[in-house]
Amino acid sequence: MNEENQESDLVWGAVVANVKASLPTEVARNRMERYFPLMRTHVRVGDEYVIGVAEPIQVEMFTAEYAALIAEALQLTGVGELRVRFAVEGAAPHPTPLPRPVYESTPAPYAQTANAAAAAAPGAAFLQTPPPHENYTFDNFVPAPSNSIAYATATAVAKNPGRVHNPLFIYGGTGLGKTHLMEAIGHEVIEKTPRLSVCYITSETFLNEYVNALTNRAMEAFRQRYRNVDVLLLDDVQFIAGKEKIQEEFFNTFNSLMDTHRQVVMTSDVAPRDLKGCEERLIGRFQNGMVVEIESPSYETRLAILKSKVATEHYLVPDAVLDFIAENICSHVRALEGALKRVVAFASINRATPLTVDVARHLLRDSIENEQTIKDLTVDDIMKTVAAYYSVTIEDILRKERTQTLVTPRQVAMFLSRKLTTKSLPEIALSFKKNHATVHHGTQTIQKRLDVEPNLRKAVEEITVKLGRKLSDLSA
Ligand code: ADP
Ligand code: MG
Repeated sequence: MNEENQESDLVWGAVVANVKASLPTEVARNRMERYFPLMRTHVRVGDEYVIGVAEPIQVEMFTAEYAALIAEALQLTGVGELRVRFAVEGAAPHPTPLPRPVYESTPAPYAQTANAAAAAAPGAAFLQTPPPHENYTFDNFVPAPSNSIAYATATAVAKNPGRVHNPLFIYGGTGLGKTHLMEAIGHEVIEKTPRLSVCYITSETFLNEYVNALTNRAMEAFRQRYRNVDVLLLDDVQFIAGKEKIQEEFFNTFNSLMDTHRQVVMTSDVAPRDLKGCEERLIGRFQNGMVVEIESPSYETRLAILKSKVATEHYLVPDAVLDFIAENICSHVRALEGALKRVVAFASINRATPLTVDVARHLLRDSIENEQTIKDLTVDDIMKTVAAYYSVTIEDILRKERTQTLVTPRQVAMFLSRKLTTKSLPEIALSFKKNHATVHHGTQTIQKRLDVEPNLRKAVEEITVKLGRKLSDLSA
């Protein structure tokens, strides 16, 4: 890659990170993640920044939704004030790689796998759908206390797919590395055991393909395809839980894969038992395998991750700036990476300005403000506010006594601690001087009661507002 391309990639990387940091909701960020890969080329022409897309309709849509945000983000990177224009690009080759398509290759003979059988059948193809991010490998993953069990389990599965932990269910908050670990399993299997077919798919794509197969009367092909993989990696499974038809189809696929000792790996933002609308039998089967959680990284882990990224990407960032980022961006790894990218892009474009902590503080002010609101709330704050609301004391909340006048405030405080802080279940349990199961049960009980008790809902909402949070934070 020449230097000009590299710089333009850096600018675009920073724009993406800046726009993402400015979006207030998870929904908006997910939407952006779907659309931004469609913006294939990005070049500066005079005082314009021209973004190439494939379809006229995208020009219209993206101009309305993103032009102003991108212009603002560009300014933050230090390239100055540019006008953003979307244009339908010609047939020129795309400098940005498009998502990799499913490709076919020839399998080596292997008697026990589905692919051997498929290869033996005339006309059958060996399908490999590798994970999309080439750099989501074990080598690039920093093992840490917050992910140690998940990491150990994932490496064991990659060495011995279908034989050790099956299914493997990885859950945890957004941006903590679930997809990275899952993809790492896929890359490792493809590299070390190429005779096994690996299929990575998001639940959203799985659902879309299912609907397409239904409309095109191609169900048999759909089934054959997914029931014949050796390692199925299904990302964000919470997306299909609760959708009856697809859940049923997945259940059948899942059972068929289990029966033939194929490996299934799933990720989700919640534990199996918290999957809304998921059938008991499916939850039961998930729990029969290995269920592992990834938790929020500690300061030391955040710094280690930053240092590892700096080393692999050959960035030059002073230690004080890395330290500053690790101190201030605590919520998740994705935010950490976004912050690093913004700082690096700024430094590489404004070579004359030394990269100091003050420069970083200025560049990252939005993200830090976001973090502040997340960070500020502690389990203690919540207990205090809940206790005051119900006219009880914190000691009452921590007591073992099970009278209803104390149980409700106690469980509400547990519920809000789970919803409104980034603390893990064990940490919250420690603050309440209870075990995990009690806190989990308390949270679940309130969640269920909210649907049927308007008075309780009103109370919980009022406390949330008192804590300075939005009601939408409760549904996260
Ligand atoms: P999730 O799927 O949990 O939302 P991702 O797997 O997409 O999160 O991770 C978000 C980003 O953070 C990715 O770029 C990933 O490479 C990075 N990341 C997360 N955890 C680690 C880690 N332990 N070491 C290195 N990079 C990590
Ligand atoms: Mg993910």
